[in-house]
Amino acid sequence: MDCIFCKIATGEIPSQKVYEDESVVAFKDLSPKAPVHVLIVPKKHIQSVAHFQTEDKELAAHIFVDVVPKLANELGIAENGFRVVMNTGDDGGQTVHHLHVHLLGGRKFTWPPG
Ligand code: AMP
Ligand code: ZN
Repeated sequence: MDCIFCKIATGEIPSQKVYEDESVVAFKDLSPKAPVHVLIVPKKHIQSVAHFQTEDKELAAHIFVDVVPKLANELGIAENGFRVVMNTGDDGGQTVHHLHVHLLGGRKFTWPPG
């Protein structure tokens, strides 16, 4: 499959990895929107959060229960706060159609988003 995040997950395309385990990889966003901006990506190709299947429950829990708080701590943004974003589909502004969680921090964010 011609998918940039699948290729990053296998190492075919280089990235600045900050975390990897058997089901997930996390790397620095190429075009950071905050001092800390990493993408948490399942190694399995899932198009978006709208495409999660029942079989992905453990993976989804792993991302949000294990990986997000661990990386927020390690990257030094847990105390002051951070933002977790999943752009989904065209109206959601998703440009890479392989599910990814943006973990952003190191500055104050505004609401609502643009
Ligand atoms: P989204 O717009 O939510 O689909 O987010 C896609 C993100 O992937 C954007 O923030 C891009 O800057 C980022 N991105 C695209 N290609 C790469 C790459 N090769 N390495 C790291 N980040 C990338
Ligand atoms: Zn993919």
